[in-house]
Amino acid sequence: MPIYAYQCRSCGHEFSTLVRGGETPECPSCAAVDLERQLSLIAKPVEPSAASTGPACGAPMGACGTGGCPAFAGD
Ligand SMILES: [Zn+2]
Repeated sequence: MPIYAYQCRSCGHEFSTLVRGGETPECPSCAAVDLERQLSLIAKPVEPSAASTGPACGAPMGACGTGGCPAFAGD
């Protein structure tokens, strides 16, 4: 489900909310439904995690498997 940013035309309050198909959100501040949908789609930032994406041996990305990785040295 997409999350859209809105600005309330009634009170000017800006907010973002999940929008299910066909539903019209209302302003959490004044409950108006006269909202202007902002162009920007709010996406959850994906936080890079070196611990989960890096090689298990702890070598820098790109070094593993090229001969310089201690995890492969004794193979
Ligand atoms: Zn409002």
